[in-house]
Amino acid sequence: MTDATKEYQEKRDFRKTDEPAGGAGGGSGAPIWVIQEHDASNRHFDLRIEVDGVLKSWAVPKGPSTDPAEKRLALPTEDHPLEYADFEGTIPEDEYGGGAVIVWDRGTYTNLKEDEDGEPVPVGAQLDDGHLTLRLEEGEKLAGGFALTRLQRRHEDAWLLVKMDDDEADARRNPVSTERESVKTGRTVDEVAADSAGETAGEDGDAGDGGA
Ligand code: MN
Repeated sequence: MTDATKEYQEKRDFRKTDEPAGGAGGGSGAPIWVIQEHDASNRHFDLRIEVDGVLKSWAVPKGPSTDPAEKRLALPTEDHPLEYADFEGTIPEDEYGGGAVIVWDRGTYTNLKEDEDGEPVPVGAQLDDGHLTLRLEEGEKLAGGFALTRLQRRHEDAWLLVKMDDDEADARRNPVSTERESVKTGRTVDEVAADSAGETAGEDGDAGDGGA
């Protein structure tokens, strides 16, 4: 494989974490997006969108909002392999990003930005320009247009994630607090952590729960 996700791989010990090492390829069909809830040292959400064979990634401390008036800080993190979109589980506490992860929502997207000739602007070029607009499809919690805009004024590379004001905008919803379950397994991030703790206890031969 290429070293498109070299930084991702260097941060992790795949003998210790169940996260995917990458290299499975894929990426045919409509490009995907995923938002994972991640109970690391600071609980946050990770937004990832497929661009040019990798998942471009941002940590969104407060998670996405369906209210166009809410701007959510989004801090870029290293590119992740495409297979990461399916990852749910618990990263060991002493490993990078230690803590439980769920697939909070996911789907495919369409590119909303066109040039003067009505041709779509490649998403990679939109990223370089510091402003991209996407329409999320097939999500269970999120839908419609979202914009990501790079902030100019900060020392660090920081972006804002904002719901576009379209038919799917809804200021009354707050899915990051009212819709906590994984769209993959129906578990909350706390339930994933508890399940993993149980498995570890089982492996260690911890006493007499007679486990399955
Ligand atoms: Mn994270």
